[in-house]
Amino acid sequence: MRITGKVEIYGVIGYPIKHSLSPLFQNAAFFWTGIEALYVPFEVSPENLKKALEGLRASGVKGLNVTIPHKEAVLSFADVISPEAKEIGAVNTLKFTRTSVEAYNTDWIGFLKAIQELEDPKGKTVLVLGAGGAAKAVIYSLKKVKAQVLVWNRTPEKIFPLEEKFGVEKIKRPEEALPVADIIVNTTSVGLKEEDPPLFDYSLLEEKHIVVDLIYKDTPLLKEAKKKSCRVQNGFPMLLYQGAESFRIWTGCNPPLEIMKLALKGEFPTGYSRIP
Ligand code: NAP
Repeated sequence: MRITGKVEIYGVIGYPIKHSLSPLFQNAAFFWTGIEALYVPFEVSPENLKKALEGLRASGVKGLNVTIPHKEAVLSFADVISPEAKEIGAVNTLKFTRTSVEAYNTDWIGFLKAIQELEDPKGKTVLVLGAGGAAKAVIYSLKKVKAQVLVWNRTPEKIFPLEEKFGVEKIKRPEEALPVADIIVNTTSVGLKEEDPPLFDYSLLEEKHIVVDLIYKDTPLLKEAKKKSCRVQNGFPMLLYQGAESFRIWTGCNPPLEIMKLALKGEFPTGYSRIP
């Protein structure tokens, strides 16, 4: 791919950002589709968010992914907010047009497409662990397909607004929900470190449980679930599908999913382009 003065710039803003895997597969998607664009990480602290967004837009940046801790704060910079982002209360995709800033949430559809690879959650009972930003997107998708959603969170007060908004049921201890749960989704950051204390006694998992962890690796929860022969999924498929939907919003093109998947696995030779 030749980079000329016409190159369009996209990126991801977060704090920290160096761990982000999005540049890997978004750049592969641009290369493969022959779109002359680059996707770069921007490390922006909360106190610099306003200045950074104004500066990036003024510099002609076309679109951004938004990650921790800015997903809620960017709502106030948007001129147009998609119904999903409004309902979820968080944004992970911004599109800068000549006249406006458009805000979207693709986490919910990323989660839905990912879990549907394992099992259709329609009508299933799902235990969601956590009540943060990612949990809201997950709950939105699950409610959309009419799953029954039980939520546990370390800070139980944070579940109240979710009960009101999405009609979820609050659970005092994760163990309570295990006998009725078909699917268990960890949306907390517990498991990021191997030594994190478990969210519940993982030896209580049974083969019937489908276990999803939004963290981008096989966490202790997933490892225990595998030992019990449960079907499991880590955070990579959701990451891929949410990014693919952002790509679609920015470019209007179908995302090259297989290429993006290869790139995420580190198997796509960067610099290679289908269109010379
Ligand atoms: P967040 O808004 O900060 O929420 C964090 C959640 O984790 C809260 O429910 C919090 O509970 C809980 N938590 C943190 N430490 C805990 C502990 N020691 N014990 C029990 N609960 C604890 O963060 P987020 O945006 O929802 O992200 C959460 C995770 O999802 C991150 O690991 C992120 O990387 C991942 N994620 C993945 C994808 C993907 O595409 N795969 C997308 C988005 C997020 P309290 O309310 O009690 O603090």
